[in-house]
Amino acid sequence: MGLLDRMQARRRYRTMARRLAKLDRLERKGDASTRIVTPWPVRRCWLKNTAMVVVSCLATAAVLVLLGVASFGWAGLAGDSYPVLPSDAAATRILPPVTDAPTGAHAFMITTADGRPVTYDPCRPIHYVVNPTGMPRDGIELVRSAIREISAATGLAFVEEGITSEPLTKVRTPRQPQRYGDRWAPVLIGWVDATIFSSVSGDIAGVGGSTAVAPEGPGSERYVSGQVALSQDWFTAAVARPGGEANARAVVMHELGHLVGLAHVHDPSEVMAESNSGLTKLGPGDRQGLAAVGSGRCHTDT
Ligand SMILES: [Zn+2]
Repeated sequence: MGLLDRMQARRRYRTMARRLAKLDRLERKGDASTRIVTPWPVRRCWLKNTAMVVVSCLATAAVLVLLGVASFGWAGLAGDSYPVLPSDAAATRILPPVTDAPTGAHAFMITTADGRPVTYDPCRPIHYVVNPTGMPRDGIELVRSAIREISAATGLAFVEEGITSEPLTKVRTPRQPQRYGDRWAPVLIGWVDATIFSSVSGDIAGVGGSTAVAPEGPGSERYVSGQVALSQDWFTAAVARPGGEANARAVVMHELGHLVGLAHVHDPSEVMAESNSGLTKLGPGDRQGLAAVGSGRCHTDT
């Protein structure tokens, strides 16, 4: 990125900061008509009691932050909120795109006005941290294994930054300069109980989703950070069952599927089905959808 590009990017940030400050003021004044918010459907999946091991989840802690206005679940951005281009952003995608995926049922969390799925930027790695509090046996390796699978199916690169003490919270800001420096906060993965996430209890094994920003307005949406909150109780019980690790891994893959932009489907042969009856491997629709969300655009404006 040249000096001129950086100056232009800075100018855009300042313009955006002014607009955000204006939005903040209008919001405080209660002028909701100026808010640009995309409503976010909350999709549940639930447990069916069968003889098989069944997993369940609540999809969508995901949120669209469009022009800095949060719609649900994540803190909005304020002020000069867009970080500079990260040093590990490449000019071309880091891993090759997945071009040989089979076809099947899949759906996207959100799409742009022209119908493209909103995605992470394939020209930079998705950084993630893990909070090990309450994790099940071999929890870190469980996450790594699921990440490897999703990375291979999307062609998106992931970078494990290690463990963090950042607690999982229902509202997480995608920028935390004091903790992570001048960049988008890494994806946070960890285990929670119902006292932290009331939605993660009983049959609900986890929630997952990402925050999108649109620095250049509609059409420029992209995911910049996210969170996967997994149930302590469910995972502890799952890995204690014979063969339960594969089911636990599938739940992490499902939540990572939400993280990178996939929504639920009704086809029970897909990991992204609302209710999983013991499926442990990605289905053809999962693979088609993951290949699609791994083939998004690269960005140089933030
Ligand atoms: Zn789900």
